[in-house]
Amino acid sequence: MSYNSKVETFRIKGMCCSRCVRALKEELSKLSLTKITVRIGEAELVYGKEIIPFEQTQNAVEDAGFEIMTLLQNKKIEEVKEYVRRHLSDSNALRLSVLSRAVAVSPYHLSRTFSLIEKETLQDFIIRTRVEYAAQLLRDTERAFDGSGHIYACTATVGKNGEELGTFYPTVNKANDLIKVWEERDVTTIPECKGCNLQLACGGGCASIAKNRTGNLASPDCRPITQLLEMGISHYFSEQ
Ligand code: SF4
Repeated sequence: MSYNSKVETFRIKGMCCSRCVRALKEELSKLSLTKITVRIGEAELVYGKEIIPFEQTQNAVEDAGFEIMTLLQNKKIEEVKEYVRRHLSDSNALRLSVLSRAVAVSPYHLSRTFSLIEKETLQDFIIRTRVEYAAQLLRDTERAFDGSGHIYACTATVGKNGEELGTFYPTVNKANDLIKVWEERDVTTIPECKGCNLQLACGGGCASIAKNRTGNLASPDCRPITQLLEMGISHYFSEQ
């Protein structure tokens, strides 16, 4: 690509498969372009020295049976996506009638345009965004999830009644007070650990075991740390 090349990316409405990609590429190749990259819903064009007016590109897209998405439509779709992300835990706000009012588009038009442009229904987008949110939680924290849509603090508590910290499906709900207690549990918040000289090696033990034993998350799960350390050290040194 030469230094002066101009690259422009258009979002295209109405494409759904590899045949659409081929048809659009064929029409665009009639223009004097340096490079054409077409994907479903998108065309990236590299212009050479020749100036090609927008109308000419638009005609080529329309001849292939598609439409260039206007900036306004693009903006509206982004607005819908942002609204969904901000209201993941509010099922009422995500009802089509409420959502369409919030973004000032009729329910029919919203649902049709979204599917046409995004190649997935609005409902599928909402479900996918919720599942991605749960996956993100899983990556960023030690959270664990079960098949019925519940969130737990860790794998040791999965499936236990009363240990749920919220749900990720069908709605996202987090019990923030409970989550805070789990997140704050460490050797500085467990009274017995505060003065213990093993705290740096131990870390307070397993929170789930401590809670099962005492009913209190902020209690210690003491392990034979000294013996475990001795065993570990003698094992590593004897191997050298
Ligand atoms: S859990 Fe027990 S051994 Fe571990 S730091 Fe706390 S008091 Fe010490």
